[in-house]
Parts: sequence; C-alpha cells; structure tokens
Amino acid sequence: MTHDTPMTPPVTPDALTVPRKVPEYAGGKRNIVGLTREGLKAALLEIGTPEKQAKMRTGQIWQWVYQWGVRDFHAMTNLSKAFRAELDEAFVIALPEIVDKQVSADGTRKYLVRINGGHEVEVVYIPEESRGTLCISSQVGCTLTCSFCHTGTQKLVRNLTAGEIIGQVMLARDDLGEWPEPGVSTADNGPRLLSNVVLMGMGEPLYNFDNVRDAMKIAMDGEGIALSRRRITLSTSGIVPEIARAADEIGCLLAVSFHATTDEVRNTLVPINKKYNIETLLAALRDYPRLSNSERITFEYVMIKGVNDSEEDARRLVSLIKGIPAKINLIPFNEWPGSGYERSSWTQIKKFADIVFDAGYASPIRKPRGEDIMAACGQLKSATERARKSRRQIEAEAGLGG
Ligand code: SAH
Ligand code: SF4
Repeated sequence: MTHDTPMTPPVTPDALTVPRKVPEYAGGKRNIVGLTREGLKAALLEIGTPEKQAKMRTGQIWQWVYQWGVRDFHAMTNLSKAFRAELDEAFVIALPEIVDKQVSADGTRKYLVRINGGHEVEVVYIPEESRGTLCISSQVGCTLTCSFCHTGTQKLVRNLTAGEIIGQVMLARDDLGEWPEPGVSTADNGPRLLSNVVLMGMGEPLYNFDNVRDAMKIAMDGEGIALSRRRITLSTSGIVPEIARAADEIGCLLAVSFHATTDEVRNTLVPINKKYNIETLLAALRDYPRLSNSERITFEYVMIKGVNDSEEDARRLVSLIKGIPAKINLIPFNEWPGSGYERSSWTQIKKFADIVFDAGYASPIRKPRGEDIMAACGQLKSATERARKSRRQIEAEAGLGG
C-alpha cells in the first residue's frame, strides 16, 4: 500500500487487555462451525444421537452449513423437528461478525471482522477477471517480527479457531451473495466469485497448524465449500518442520516469504531465518511433494529499496532455487510509517523481474490492490490499530478506560 499518512510510529496493541482463552457462547452452547466431520460426529454422539445415525446426520448438517450457508437449525428441513430442536438446544452456528466493510475503486473489498472476545482481523477480497481471491488471517497479530511487516509490530493476541478461519470464507460468501439455492445445481452458475483462498493475511499459519488444517479441510470438502486444494495457497515465513506436515495433512499450494538471497539480509528481514536458514528452507521446499510445473511453489519477494533489490540479488535468487518448480511473486514493498524502508523504484523492480524471467521463472509483479482502502499485504489492521489507540486514549482521558 502507498499512502500519505504522516510519519508516526507504529502502534502496538496493549497486551494487558488481551484475554487468551476463547470465550464461550451463551448458555454454554458449542459452536459447530469449524468442527471437522469427525468432531461434529463426536459432538452429535455426545448429545445422544444414536451411533448408527450419527454419520448421516453429520453429512446432512454439514451440507446445510457449508454448502448452503444455512445458519438456523430449524431450517434444516431434512431433519426431524425434534432433532432440530435438540441441535438448537446444544449448539450454535456462529461466525465472526463483519463490523466494517470498505470497497476500493478497483473492486477490492476489505472487511473488518470481529471475533469472539472482541478482537479484530481483516479479510480482503480481490476480484480479478478470471477469479476472485480471498485473503484470510490465521492469527490476531504474529509472534514473528519480520522487520518490514506491520503485523510484526502487533503482538500475538491469539490463534484464530478453525471456525474463525473458515468463518472468514463464509462471511465473504454472505457478503458476495454467493450461497447456492438448496436443491439447485451450482454447475450453471459460471465462475465463482470466491474461487481462491490465500492464507496471507495476519499471522503465521504454520504456527496455528491444527486450526488452519481443520479449516482448510472444510474449505476443500466436496460437500462443503468445495474449493480445490489447488485453489488454496498457504503462505509461510519458512517454519521448516511444519512444511512437510503441511504437504501431508493439508495438501494445498505453498508460498514462501523468501525476501532475501543471503542469510545476513534474511536474518534481518525475516528473523525466523536465524532458526531455519536459507539452506534448510530450500531443502524442505525441494522435498515438498507433488511439485510439478502446475503446482509450483510461489516465492514471495518483497522489493525494498537498497536492501534486497540488486541485480546481483536477482541472479543469486535464481541460482539458489535452481531445480525447484517455482514462480517468483515480486511484491513492491508497501510502506508504513516508521518502517524505515522504502519501496524499490519501478525500474529496479522491472530489472529484477527480467533477470528472473530470463532464467525461466514466471516473475509477476504484484499489482497493489485496494490502495485507497489500505488493504495491501502487511498493512492489515494498521489503520484499525491506530483508530483503536485513539479511542483508548479518548476513553482514558475521559476516565473510562483502564
Ligand atoms: N506470515 C505469513 C503470511 C502472512 S504475510 C508469511 O509471512 O508468509 C503475507 C505476505 O505479505 C508475506 O509474503 C509477507 O512477507 C508480505 N508482507 C508483509 N508486509 C509487507 C509489506 N509491508 N509490503 C509488502 N509485503 C509485505
Ligand atoms: Fe508474521 Fe508473516 Fe508478518 Fe513475518 S511477514 S511478521 S511471519 S505476518
């Protein structure tokens, strides 16, 4: 994102106000959104559903919730009235709440989403000609401290639950009006508005592995959201031990925040590199199964003036990744106040892209989207955090806040 906001230091949220436990729902009810099929079946058994019915009931509820977008047990007309009432007694179908929505001149939509407990994450929908991509978050804040990323200045508040992760997809479908009519074939509806999901919002998805996995299983389930695993991309800063697990247990496409071609520079940009250096990371990527030209690894490379954008860097990059089916996504650095970094010049980005391209790799330059609504990578939540801070300050001045 580019913007003209005055240079003020980034705001770090007040860690003291943060409850870490996920709060419960009224009446002690359990949320079924985010349960895996096995989890839902177990929950049904717990409320006394007969063992021999549980699997079928799971499938029926699953379809209502994830295929048709139904939020009310009483509307599940293929279940008996008595069973619907039992479900309603024990469970809720709860999603996070969209508290604000902005639509950019280019069609990008940014949703501010409030999760249970009051914290907020941002979700971005990016329409393109042939697809629509939803960028979702996996954590509130991040434990890693990549120096160019605004999220890195926000302390980790908590991991999102699987329900909150898949809930972002469901909310976007609500907003796009994209739930099919029950009973009507979806085959004739043309390309989906929401056809792709990228885990590139706030947080490190591989540090919230189980919840991300469960949510993506729901996203990929043919009787659920039904996105192909090849339409889901998980972006990681390079948590090496979890990469093989992601291939095995999730099986989606992988993007890696590479960003530098020497350990020295990567240590400062992506400090997890001190634990898992470039060599270790590349070895894990070479082992990522199913690598083929259609399932290439995306190397994300943020272009920062004078830091990682030299022609020498470009040449080193192509020699490092030799042999890995890859695409290099060049991301012009989105500036934010106090980062101390600047976006590389257009000519430099172009030169870099050409070297990578000439070496045989696709090297698209990510077009900044939604600039007018601050929806770009690494920017999420920064305006909100600022707004929150000033609200807090106002409350404090009025003697209300703690
Ligand atoms: N934590 C994960 C996923 C979220 S970040 C990861 O780091 O991969 C999504 C992408 O946005 C990452 O490639 C990240 O490096 C990039 N990014 C973060 N801040 C940015 C900024 N200010 N400008 C451009 N890209 C940024
Ligand atoms: Fe966390 Fe990714 Fe930002 Fe690094 S780039 S601080 S891993 S969100």
